[in-house]
Amino acid sequence: MDFTIPDELLELKKRTENFVRQEILPRENDRRLGPHGPSDEFRRELVALARQAGLLSPHVGREWGGLGLDHRGKAVVFEAAGYAPLATIAMNIFAPDEANMHLLEQVADQQQKEEWLRPLAAGDIRSCFMMTEPPPGAGADPSMLLTTARRAESSNSGDFVIDGTKWLITGAVGADLAIIMAKNESDPLGPAGATMFLTPMNAPGIHIERVLGTLDQYMTGGHAVVRLDGLRVPESAVLGRVGEGFRYAQARLAPARLTHCMRWLGAARRAHDIATDYARRRTAFGKPLGEHEGVGFMLADNEMDLHTCRLTIWHTAWLLDQGERARHESSMAKVICSEAIWRVVDRSMQVLGGLGITDDTIVARLFREVRPFRIYDGPSEVHRWSIAQRVLRTGGAPQ
Ligand SMILES: Cc1cc2nc3c(=O)[nH]c(=O)nc-3n(C[C@H](O)[C@H](O)[C@H](O)COP(=O)(O)OP(=O)(O)OC[C@H]3O[C@@H](n4cnc5c(N)ncnc54)[C@H](O)[C@@H]3O)c2cc1C
Repeated sequence: MDFTIPDELLELKKRTENFVRQEILPRENDRRLGPHGPSDEFRRELVALARQAGLLSPHVGREWGGLGLDHRGKAVVFEAAGYAPLATIAMNIFAPDEANMHLLEQVADQQQKEEWLRPLAAGDIRSCFMMTEPPPGAGADPSMLLTTARRAESSNSGDFVIDGTKWLITGAVGADLAIIMAKNESDPLGPAGATMFLTPMNAPGIHIERVLGTLDQYMTGGHAVVRLDGLRVPESAVLGRVGEGFRYAQARLAPARLTHCMRWLGAARRAHDIATDYARRRTAFGKPLGEHEGVGFMLADNEMDLHTCRLTIWHTAWLLDQGERARHESSMAKVICSEAIWRVVDRSMQVLGGLGITDDTIVARLFREVRPFRIYDGPSEVHRWSIAQRVLRTGGAPQ
């Protein structure tokens, strides 16, 4: 395994760190950052700053306007950007757009890429990914998908009509593009199964019913309930092939889980730095907090958790760069990192005492952000369950 960081990547990492320090940290308390992420105006200003710094969409291929980073490159740059979550929005590497761009780059045809990937990579538009449904529909178990896509009646056009309800859809408000997962009803024109469709969000038949109040606050547009009511899409809206939706969802998810780990690792490092600084300066019972074993050990545990996350991310990124699907490893990385990152932020808050729960540092905000990470992109229990299945079947991952 080669974990060498080439000079070019090191330079990009430094540039990202400078960008975070000089452009993003001073803007973190901007009033246009509300309970559902930055306003559209603020987001566009941030994107313009990243564009100016040559840091926009580093994960996208150069032909589409990005910097063409591989997975290991992303591990380095996304962690650096994650130090200030607003930087990941500025650099266009936040969820769900980052993973959606990856999916389009892998699966979309040339025309779809021109229509959607190019403006997404330029930060001119946003997108959302519609998979989850309220009970009894698809959640932790995607096979419970209830949204249907059927061929339009009395039509030679090959159009589809989509009906269903989606929820927890990040960024639906303000998005231009929706990627919708729907199951095909028995269809003489194509195999049954799930299919992904690309459609403009302003198409008749897409109704945003409400934006949910949620614990987290950084994700642009928040999380919405969306009703799809007789949404008609042309055959050219099919992403890839009819009936292949679940396969593409897996192709999207393995790297998407890992990029969440990368970004939140940077955020956890920030919380740890703030706690360490406090433990050095604040005294109690005649000495700095950090010299009390109880506090020192929390910092040591943070350090070890951060180290474990980085190694796990790097190893999985390396596998993906070798062309492996790394489903098992990305599952393990997701559980290891989401839980370790949660512990780091939680301990950092404890070290800060009362200050930790105030908005005088970013730690309280990060605390709210990292908790949902143990649920989205597969709850920890579902990953453990699937890891266990594999262990029982094969005896575990090859060493
Ligand atoms: C912040 C956030 C953003 C999201 N953004 C999007 C988005 O943009 N698009 C989208 O489509 N979805 C999105 N989701 C939805 C997310 O993918 C689902 O919440 C997740 O897949 C779990 O589904 P569910 O909420 O229906 O949980 P349920 O399926 O109701 O499961 C509830 C709990 O049951 C337990 N459980 C389930 N199965 C098992 C099992 N086999 N073994 C043991 N325990 C189990 C787990 O503890 C799980 O948390 C988002 C969610 C969050 C929190």
